[in-house]
Amino acid sequence: MDPAKRANDAAASAVDPDEVLALARALIASPSENPGGTEDEAADVASAFLRDLGADTRTVRGQAGRPSVVATMGGGAARDLAWNGHLDTVPAGSLDTWSVDPFAAEVVDGRLIGRGACDMKGPVASALAAAAAIARAGVELDGTLTFHLVADEELAGVHGTRVLRDQDSLTQRMAVVGEPTDMTLGLAERGGAWVTATAYGAAAHGSQPDRGINAITSMARFLLRLPEVLPDIEHPLCGRATVNAALIEGGSAPNVVPDRCEVDIDRRTLPGENDPDAVLQPFHDLAAALRAEHPDVDVRAEIRDWIDASETTSDSEIAEAVRRASAAERGASAPDAGFTGITDARYYINDAAIPTVIFGPGSLGVAHTADEWIDVEDLVLGARIYARLFVDVLTG
Ligand SMILES: [Zn+2]
Repeated sequence: MDPAKRANDAAASAVDPDEVLALARALIASPSENPGGTEDEAADVASAFLRDLGADTRTVRGQAGRPSVVATMGGGAARDLAWNGHLDTVPAGSLDTWSVDPFAAEVVDGRLIGRGACDMKGPVASALAAAAAIARAGVELDGTLTFHLVADEELAGVHGTRVLRDQDSLTQRMAVVGEPTDMTLGLAERGGAWVTATAYGAAAHGSQPDRGINAITSMARFLLRLPEVLPDIEHPLCGRATVNAALIEGGSAPNVVPDRCEVDIDRRTLPGENDPDAVLQPFHDLAAALRAEHPDVDVRAEIRDWIDASETTSDSEIAEAVRRASAAERGASAPDAGFTGITDARYYINDAAIPTVIFGPGSLGVAHTADEWIDVEDLVLGARIYARLFVDVLTG
């Protein structure tokens, strides 16, 4: 048998289902809600596991003190790969919406339930268990496998992957962000422009509305035509851009004509939409069009926050390697996909020019929900595919 295939099969076979599950449970039982908590306890669990494998493990902290674990295995400069997973989770929310304790990590009907089960302590467990399997199988890596187990992804990675970027730790030739994709191959993700629109009016006594200009009415006209700000373009993997009026505030008292109304708008961008001015211009155009029809309308828009979309080519080496690993394990290649959320992949792709794919077990559809879960079988399957992927990229 071909020695590369033998090493690949040996690593996958050495995945221990009990180990994957126990690690996922230990990570879930170490709460790291963001906002509100820290990743320290989860980082300790991951660090201890990696040290036991003989990985060179350190904890990196930015100014806010939040921990990201950086660990390397194998050696040699010929090849290298970063695997990124976040250790924080969104908060559990109201406990009475859960059927079990969100941090008890119970298994019910083959599903591991808990905050972070799929997003993404489960996938982290799969990746670390894959590394353990490689070690157990005695497969020598002649490249370096680097884990970036980061803080703060849920709030844009400012205290996590961005800290690693700022310390010049994003140097690998390719990377995988292990967010739950149902093991489809995430090659692109949308970005976001957070737009604040403000309507200005004129206050007057509520019994004499004709003497004022109602800012809430102006904003209502604006919001009803909001879809007009979207470009008529479609991305093959990410579909169309979207816009969502998310938060609204206006008026001062029940008997006063409101002179101001403010709305936070979530405009999701497509790969290729890199110019904030170009994304904002249609908001100005809409305001001008409304003003032409209703001279009292005065709506102004500005971008408060911006995150670039990102994309890696379908024929990149890392994309091909994920397809091979998936095909070897499941008999079917991972289909190309777009990721609807925003991940830390953009730091690797946009800031460090590292070809990066998003690939992991679990479904994004249950992320952030009550009774978040992952199939135990998928945890194990994820570990087996990761084991093959790491051996494929880092040996031979
Ligand atoms: Zn996530």
